[in-house]
Amino acid sequence: MYEKLEECPVCKHSQFTNHLICDDHSVSGESFALVKCKKCSLVFTNPRPEQGALPDYYQSDQYISHTDKGNSLINFIYKLVRKYTIRRKVKLIDKLNRGQGSLLDYGCGTGDFIKTANKKGWHAYGYEPDKDAQNIASSKNPDKLLDRIENHKDQFNIITAWHVIEHVSELNKTIKTLKKQLATDGHLIIALPNHKSYDAAFYKEYWAGYDVPRHLYHFDQESIKSFATKFKLRLIHTLPMKFDSYYVSMLSEKYKGKSNLLNALKIGLNSNNKAIKTNDYSSLIYIFKK
Ligand SMILES: [Zn+2]
Repeated sequence: MYEKLEECPVCKHSQFTNHLICDDHSVSGESFALVKCKKCSLVFTNPRPEQGALPDYYQSDQYISHTDKGNSLINFIYKLVRKYTIRRKVKLIDKLNRGQGSLLDYGCGTGDFIKTANKKGWHAYGYEPDKDAQNIASSKNPDKLLDRIENHKDQFNIITAWHVIEHVSELNKTIKTLKKQLATDGHLIIALPNHKSYDAAFYKEYWAGYDVPRHLYHFDQESIKSFATKFKLRLIHTLPMKFDSYYVSMLSEKYKGKSNLLNALKIGLNSNNKAIKTNDYSSLIYIFKK
């Protein structure tokens, strides 16, 4: 069953323009429409599967962030890059909170980031709704997986959501809960694909960053401002994720039916070069304070 949104999930405006029609390339093969809010410019998947139907769209061995399998070249590269980016992520939180402290990784997947953070001295917890991913995460991080973040007694110094917020159907409730669990001077770190990037413009409906219907919202630097206003958050930094342009281009090539690795590397590199001026990298890390 599908749900048609009559209001923009961020600013509640009721007028949209058509943005693109995208296919679900990894699970269902179904087509979904993306619309753009006329007021805040948020692009979102509409209609979208009802909340109860969403888990069906994650039922794939290929859904890499929920598995630990490295059985194809793309998955192998994903894991290699993941190792490197995890170290970068820990460096970032070390810099934001010098004395270290407590961390919640919301949507922790298979739990590798909290494992590394705990090793480096953080008190890191994870939350993951997908049962299979949750089992892998808790085997790597005994007693560090939370069933309900609302029940955690202390607030967190850092809350991270790496490519997660675009997946949550209850956007309002989720952000409000995360804010409540964030310490007064804490940092909320949200990483999202950016549909204003060069690789997105190049691949259009094949761009892997759209990943319909699992991605419900498609943010950019403009609509994230309206997101910040709505949730009374202060956006203090916007940082690039430079590896994402290559990985997303590789996947996009696959969806186009070509799998031209060399072209993917070229587009990835072009994307990063063009973003030097605009900051429109393939994925962006937004750092907020309350
Ligand atoms: Zn809007």
